[in-house]
Order: sequence, then C-alpha cells, then structure tokens
Amino acid sequence: MDFKDMQPETLLAQAGGAIDMQSGGVVPPIQPATTYARDENYTPLNADNIYSRPHNDVVRQAEHVLAELEGGAAGLLFPSGMAAIAALFRTVPSGGRVIIQSGIYWNTTKWIREFCARRQIVVEEVDASDAAALAAMCSAGPANIVWVETPSNPWLKVTDLAAAKKAADSCGALLAVDSTAASPILTNPLKLGADIVMHSTTKVINGHSDVLGGVLVTKEVTPVWQEIEIDRAGAGAVMGPFEAWLLLRGMRTLALRVDRMVDNAMKVAHYLEDHPQVESVLFPGLESHPQHALAKAQMPGGAGFLMSFLVKGSRETALQVAGKMKLFHRATSLGGVESLVEHRHTIEPHTGIPETLLRISIGVENADDLIADLGQAMGQ
Ligand SMILES: *Cc1c(COP(=O)(O)O)cnc(C)c1O
Repeated sequence: MDFKDMQPETLLAQAGGAIDMQSGGVVPPIQPATTYARDENYTPLNADNIYSRPHNDVVRQAEHVLAELEGGAAGLLFPSGMAAIAALFRTVPSGGRVIIQSGIYWNTTKWIREFCARRQIVVEEVDASDAAALAAMCSAGPANIVWVETPSNPWLKVTDLAAAKKAADSCGALLAVDSTAASPILTNPLKLGADIVMHSTTKVINGHSDVLGGVLVTKEVTPVWQEIEIDRAGAGAVMGPFEAWLLLRGMRTLALRVDRMVDNAMKVAHYLEDHPQVESVLFPGLESHPQHALAKAQMPGGAGFLMSFLVKGSRETALQVAGKMKLFHRATSLGGVESLVEHRHTIEPHTGIPETLLRISIGVENADDLIADLGQAMGQ
C-alpha cells in the first residue's frame, strides 16, 4: 500500500514506515554518525549520505511523514519553529516587501520586524482575519510573502486561507501559513491554496513538551524552496537525529491526541462560557466566536485545543486564578499532553493583550478534572 493512499491516522501510527530490515525492529533506527564512508573507488557506500548536516535518514523519514500529512511535495525540518520561519524570510531580497498578520505569536512578529529592518525589507502588518483588509494591503503593491497564522495566538482569530491565497496572488506573493495551533489533523493549508505551511513541531506535533523543532512543507518544489534547502544545508540550521527520532515517536499518537484534546477543549470552552467569573471566551469552536462558521468549514475536525478567556476583575484576579490552578501548569507553550495556563500580558505587556486574559492549552487529561480545576481556581 502506498503512503499516499493512507489516512492520517494510519500514516501516523506507522510513522517512520517499514520494518528495519537489518534488525527486524518495528521502529526506525537512529544513525548518529556525523559522516558516512566511501568505498575503495571513493564512491559513497550510500549515495544519499555524505555528511550529516544535510543527510540523516531519520530526519528525512520525519520530513516525509510531515509532507505526506500536509499533502505537500517536500518538507524540511529545522531545530526550532523560529529557525523554520527565519529560513523562509531569509529568501526575501533586500528592498522586498512582506505582509504579515498582526497580533500573532509575538516572537514571530518581533523577529521579522528586526530582521527586515536590517535588510531594508518593508514589513506591513494587517489583521488578516479581515479578508477585505488583507486584500487591500496586497493591492497596494507587489510583495514577496504574505504570512498568516490561523488560529492566531493568543487572540484565536481565524484567517480564511482561500481568500488569503487570492490576496497573495494579486500581489505576486507566496502565501505562507503558521498552522501550529491547528495541527495537520485539523487543517491542511496547502490543500486550501497556501504555498508553504509551517509548524512549530515543538507543540502538538511532538506533543510531549520535550523536543524543540520546526518544519516547512511546500506545495511545489520552486526556486524559493530550493533556496531554503540549500541555505539550510549550508548555514546548518538542522535537526539532529535524536530529536527527529523523538519527533517520529511523538507523531505516532498525533491523531489520537488531537481528537482527545479537541473533545476536552470543547467541554472546557462551554464550561467557561457559562461561568459567572468569566467575561468572555475566545475559541473558534464556540458559536459566539465571530468566525465560527469559517472555523467549522476550514477546521472540520474541530477548532483545536488552544483558547483564551478574560476573567472578570483585574490583572490581580487573573493572576490569582492562574496561581490557584493545580492541574494546569503555569508555563508558556501549547499543544502538549499536559494542560498549561499562561498570563500573556506578563510576557508581552506592550502588545495590547488584556491584563485579565488567560490563555490555556488543553491536554489529554480527563475533561471533568480540568473543569474541576478551573472551577476551584475561580472560586466556583
Ligand atoms: C511556538 C510557536 C512558534 C515558534 O516555535 P519554536 O519551536 O518555539 O521556535 C511559532 N509560531 C507559533 C504559533 C508557536 O506557537
């Protein structure tokens, strides 16, 4: 059976593929060698492997699984999500123009602003969840990249990817999508028109809060893609074999974890929405979310596992609620099997995040236990 015919659950359960014929093992082996031997005629023993910066089998296996999951032509792993983002933006020439969504993962915005300032690249920021605003920004002139994040972090705005693709086409830009909060189980941006999809694999794809990584998957192998590939091999922003192996291991349960997290998140969102101490809940799975219909169409398997809510009261009230939580760990990040709570204003006070906003990432625990923890923390 060809990989291409498999449903994501099957592809993932057997991530890494065939039996290792040398040992008979049902999981892929790790080859930690940094260099590979040649025969007496100086021919590499294995034509695919010369040196481990660009060449490692288990890294390629993990990339293959991610490319298949997203329906792309090729994937490249990086040592972090940010390294993947940086690899893409480094292809923009000096004097270029990029259009990025406002109110996204803060370090993405910060890094792109600083990088583009050094390169004399114009950065324009727009609320891409407003399709008309994005289209207007694109019609103002040519651009190299349109960068969107959906659902966005921590506002949970949803960007219409088909509309974003039209806007990007109108200014000759690539549409690149940070789909970290959606996961390849809930949205496949390439199938909706995007040119490149990016994930911080640190988050739900690995899912166990123990491996840093990032991936880019492309719809087609284009000159820009080849440039990224050459730059990765040359500049050396590569994932190591141990990390790639752990990532493959984590991915074997990705579909299962996302199913459970989506279920839990829906229950938690309904509970929070009805709670007298809660001002509002930002979660595209709720009918009250302004883009609920779009989310349902674009994320048919569920709206994800990340949400924010505003506590009634002040900054202190929100911090007290977070402080009383016993099951939710107070930590940044998202997408792990364990639930996390974060007071974003403490981390990025200057970006307009409300002081009463708590962002939660829902894990695979029992939903009633999570709800009980939220209840006791808010003084039920
Ligand atoms: C975490 C994250 C990143 C950055 O990924 P790292 O692996 O931490 O470098 C980028 N985008 C989003 C949406 C993220 O959550």
